[in-house]
Amino acid sequence: MSRVVVIGGGFAGFAAACRLANDGVPVAVYERAPRLGGRAASFERSGEVLDYGHHVLMRCCTATTGFLERIGAESAVRFQDCLSIPILCDGERTVLRSAALPGILHLLPGLLRYRPLTRGERLAALRAGAALTAGRRDAETFGAWLSRHGQSDRAIRRLWNPVVVATLNAPAERVGIAAARKVFRDGFFAPEGAGIGLFTSPLGTVFEAARTYVEARGGLVELGAGVSHVLFDGRRTVGVELADGSRVEADAVIAAIPPEALGRLVGARAELADVLQAARRLEWAPILNVHLEFDRPIFDDDFAVAVDSPVQAIFDLGRLLGGDGGQRLVLSQSAAETWIDRPDGEVVDRLTAALRALLPAARDARVAGSLVLRHRAATFVPTPGSNALRPGARTPIDGLFLAGDWVATGWPSTIEGAIRSGIGAAARAESESELRRLPDADD
Ligand SMILES: Cc1cc2nc3c(=O)[nH]c(=O)nc-3n(C[C@H](O)[C@H](O)[C@H](O)COP(=O)(O)OP(=O)(O)OC[C@H]3O[C@@H](n4cnc5c(N)ncnc54)[C@H](O)[C@@H]3O)c2cc1C
Repeated sequence: MSRVVVIGGGFAGFAAACRLANDGVPVAVYERAPRLGGRAASFERSGEVLDYGHHVLMRCCTATTGFLERIGAESAVRFQDCLSIPILCDGERTVLRSAALPGILHLLPGLLRYRPLTRGERLAALRAGAALTAGRRDAETFGAWLSRHGQSDRAIRRLWNPVVVATLNAPAERVGIAAARKVFRDGFFAPEGAGIGLFTSPLGTVFEAARTYVEARGGLVELGAGVSHVLFDGRRTVGVELADGSRVEADAVIAAIPPEALGRLVGARAELADVLQAARRLEWAPILNVHLEFDRPIFDDDFAVAVDSPVQAIFDLGRLLGGDGGQRLVLSQSAAETWIDRPDGEVVDRLTAALRALLPAARDARVAGSLVLRHRAATFVPTPGSNALRPGARTPIDGLFLAGDWVATGWPSTIEGAIRSGIGAAARAESESELRRLPDADD
């Protein structure tokens, strides 16, 4: 018998499974899809492995670095020693760079030289940044807060929005002040948290390492194994039923799946009605990834952020994966409501035109290949007050625990949030279900 069943093979599910396997608890992961990784999965195309969504970390994502180290996949990501973001704006390239100064001061020289803003806007931004470090309320949007703190529309467009759109998948006028404060306080304003982490292998390699970790400790990982019901005996969880009708008994079940999938598995359990009703009020936003292959090198950075352009973030896939740089780019378009329903050809044409305006070398270059990848519900948007809609790991039903980036961790809808939720659910399951360790080999 599997003592713990984990439903879902994304980051949340594997963070839970690896923690349990490490603690000697028998665990089985059931993943509905034919591949691992959920929203962070990879796929094969023309003999090459690509990610469905291009992902980025920051050094403040310490649960993620801990997870990668645990499973031996730390080399899959390369962190900057200190923050350095190439910015493309008005036909110029400038770098927003951290300096060797303590606390929020590490950004001071970089911001004072930030060319997309006027001198007055830079000083106003510094004042707002200092004010942002204080406070706890989440009653207003970040946009309203920025306007109250003297930020012009241009400063919001050219400084604040590129950060919140990239990290929270929605513009300042939609996200709550608490989520924005977390991003700036834990990430950008803290020198030790601010470096960008770029994946140098497809995320599929991370999930393969996680799978090996679980299996090497006696755990089971099954793909194409959708769970159709969680099984209960009165107020206790006793296992799951798979889509093929087979039943798996368990002492505890961790549902590491998005809320609408959870609703389908637990039927009309009254104990979970409030959790599901609140979760339905979370708003989800799309992300679009556009792969463009040019007939010659046009780009000189690992990545760059475009400001006041239809293009948002540019990643050099060739260079990141260890090949030739400059030609194979991924454009990541967050908060992509205006892009998501446009035909591929229009998306490619518009973004290529915008790229040509940003990169002189792209003007005469031809697009030799393209691929548009859409994610309609990529992440939830941390609207004001949305933290109150996120449940804890524990449910009112004995033996049933929740994980997933939408569960309450204090983190936005990210790999870090997912991993923290998975570790938290596993810890709860271990302590509340009195799970015994597997006997050691020499017991
Ligand atoms: C395009 C894109 C870009 C992103 N960029 C970033 C980024 O740069 N940085 C960052 O930190 N985060 C980013 N994210 C967010 C990040 O991918 C997610 O927060 C994280 O992967 C969520 O992990 P999860 O395990 O909570 O959920 P999921 O990845 O959704 O995993 C849930 C799994 O459960 C499975 N499942 C569902 N129902 C069942 C069932 N009945 N039985 C069995 N299995 C089931 C699903 O198939 C899925 O594999 C991005 C997301 C997208 C889509």
